[in-house]
Amino acid sequence: MEYRLFIDGRWVEGGPHLEVKNKYTGAGVGTLPTARREEVDAAIAAAERAAPIMADLPAYQRGDILTRASALIREQREDLARTIAAEAGKALKYARIEVDRAINTFAIAGEEARRIHGETVPLDAVPAGEGYFGFYLRRPVGVVAAITPFNFPLNLVAHKVAPAIAAGNSLVLKPASTTPLTSVKLCKILTQAGLPAGAINLVVGPGGTVGEWLVSDPRVAKVTFTGSPTVGKHITEIAGIKKVTLELGNTSPVVIAPDADLEFVAKRCAIGAYYNSGQVCLSVQRIYSQQPIYEPFTEQFVKASEAMVVGDPLDEHVDVGPMIDMREAERIEGWVHEAQSGGAKVLTGGKRQGAVYWPTVLTDVQPEMKIVAQEAFAPVASVIACDDFEEALRQADATPYGLQVSVFTRDINRVFQAIRRLNFGGVIINDTPVFRADHMPYGGNRQSGLGREGVRFAIEEMTNIQMVAIRLQ
Ligand code: NDP
Repeated sequence: MEYRLFIDGRWVEGGPHLEVKNKYTGAGVGTLPTARREEVDAAIAAAERAAPIMADLPAYQRGDILTRASALIREQREDLARTIAAEAGKALKYARIEVDRAINTFAIAGEEARRIHGETVPLDAVPAGEGYFGFYLRRPVGVVAAITPFNFPLNLVAHKVAPAIAAGNSLVLKPASTTPLTSVKLCKILTQAGLPAGAINLVVGPGGTVGEWLVSDPRVAKVTFTGSPTVGKHITEIAGIKKVTLELGNTSPVVIAPDADLEFVAKRCAIGAYYNSGQVCLSVQRIYSQQPIYEPFTEQFVKASEAMVVGDPLDEHVDVGPMIDMREAERIEGWVHEAQSGGAKVLTGGKRQGAVYWPTVLTDVQPEMKIVAQEAFAPVASVIACDDFEEALRQADATPYGLQVSVFTRDINRVFQAIRRLNFGGVIINDTPVFRADHMPYGGNRQSGLGREGVRFAIEEMTNIQMVAIRLQ
């Protein structure tokens, strides 16, 4: 099937075509043109023309467009889920969950569009403000460039597109080159929902060219990026003076206190570690437990890991499909071999066939091993023995990242001890770091990013505060 770029409300051709493959079978599922400099330029120009139109669109109309988009996504649930499963290799059951989440993200944005407001400021709190009346408004920033990764081709796009529209901005969207087809379908839906021409523009092509042209363009007022820490850092270097939100990686830790329900924890950790082949920025990667639960937990976790069904993501029963490509599967295979040669033990998994890597449990790892210190982004988790709960918290926090962390305990004192000790954007108690509800504030501390998403919080990042001070006469 042939797809096009979407610029100024029209489906247009561009440069050399890109073939999108089914990540399990390797069969082609669609082709579309890549954007050259002229298409990127046209997309930004169209967004710039649409910016004042969007800014003037009343809140109820922006809200209605988003609500209609949510309903249309619901109508096209199965087609979107199958597109995600094919182009991203995500197991169909999780692709359906992703679509359900995007339905919510748009519905929430439809509501939030109606309640964007500032507040009054008591200027007379200082002598200089006596006789003045003050308030501030939240104004749209203008053109937003949204750059997204491959692992949630719909809902991570939704987390940028829906708040940008809610806030009254226009957009240029650049999805991951491996998974652009879902974004094409989303642009069709938004047009059908009544979004004005030019308010969303879709350009596809390599991050190193198309992405960088967007990030460095002075007409773009805001860059919102989800992806790897390396690219995120580079974006801060080339963006110039504009707002930037970065949602980057993590080496997600889980701390298990001795009072936790081990069978439950093991099952949740297995889903958290292997869902989407571990290619989730919140994937369970480092699991800290202590005696006397270390051995029984490890045994339960291996059992839960072996229960995962590996295979074609379009098969209803499959839990774990392929990784995004063979190179990524070979990379993680290399990391596991490297850990083994340093003394780590593979308790289950450690097997690769093409781009498929089997759910893998490691023990006896060392903090400096890649598999512990760097983001694995693969279906591999390590169980690490600690002396006590305090030590487990210390090791969990000993990372340059800070997106989400989880602690399993029924002891309220331990809960608050963990909240105080852990420098993460999200602390999840009694579930894995993968937990996310789409309206909650979400984002990383330290090297995991800048700013927050979660519709209302993304709207804050996509608006400028405008202060008004009126001298009373
Ligand atoms: P990448 O950083 O490789 O790519 C993300 C996007 O950035 C793609 O659209 C890519 O384009 C583009 N890009 C690449 N290079 C540049 C550049 N120089 N300038 C501008 N844009 C560029 O990430 P992945 O797609 O591999 O996704 C995996 C990463 O995303 C992981 O590190 C993961 O932790 C993180 N992530 C974070 C989340 C969060 O919420 N914190 C959620 C999901 C993922 P192209 O595809 O053409 O290379």
